[in-house]
Amino acid sequence: MEVFAVPDLPEIRAGDDLASLVEERVELRADDVVCVASTVVSKAEGRTMDLADVTAGERARAVAERLEAVTGEAKDPRFAQVVLEESSALLLEAPFLLTQTRFGHVTVNAGIDRSNVPEADLLLLPEDPTASARALSESLGTPVVVTDTCGRPFRHGQRGVAIGWAGLPASRDWRGERDRDGRELGVTVEAVVDELAAAANLVSGEGSGGTPVVVVRDFDFGDHAGSDALFRAREDDLVRQALEEWEFP
Ligand code: GDP
Ligand code: MN
Ligand code: MN
Ligand code: MN
Repeated sequence: MEVFAVPDLPEIRAGDDLASLVEERVELRADDVVCVASTVVSKAEGRTMDLADVTAGERARAVAERLEAVTGEAKDPRFAQVVLEESSALLLEAPFLLTQTRFGHVTVNAGIDRSNVPEADLLLLPEDPTASARALSESLGTPVVVTDTCGRPFRHGQRGVAIGWAGLPASRDWRGERDRDGRELGVTVEAVVDELAAAANLVSGEGSGGTPVVVVRDFDFGDHAGSDALFRAREDDLVRQALEEWEFP
């Protein structure tokens, strides 16, 4: 398997045709998986926002006040307002905002980014990253994974995860297959799109590299059942349920 960045992509602006920009720079094969950082999907989709255009409501002001009290740092209630608007649930109010985005991904600050955004204060995640992936996949004729860099519970450090995908299943299901001793596998559903996203993120980096699109060539999904379940529902998410019970001291 080979993982390489598409070279020389420009700064992406609202309305840019990402698929054409990629196709002009790399000869894709139909089974390449094209991993695209959500940052540039959002820029192309015009998901930028300026705080001057935001009015904070009562809830956002209360959330920002609480955050400020807990962290001792100034928090802009207008930022809290945008986070709330992008979210369908607020899982943690302190010491940071952990929310579920409207499309189901749980992340800090609804994934709103302030790095690599030259012409606005904020960059929101794509509204529907799987729809974005589907459109790109149709144009490119390849599977597509939309990625974001994201923290994780239990471990320090961030890594790439898939927030949208098209043209391949999210996971491969090993259940019912056998290990080397002939024992039947009972639980393993491997989140392939997250693994591809992590590999792509490793090549993209986080800073000024200018490499938001990464091609994974010769990845073999193999002969396995696929699944598109990636975001856990509240009912089968024990960590989330525990968080809902917990109050920051
Ligand atoms: P995120 O993980 O989706 O939040 O994206 P990052 O901000 O971490 O950026 C991932 C990669 O894309 C880095 O190599 C950035 O330098 C690069 N990048 C971000 N925006 C642009 C852009 O508009 N054009 C190009 N060419 N690279 C960009
Ligand atoms: Mn991001
Ligand atoms: Mn990143
Ligand atoms: Mn193992």
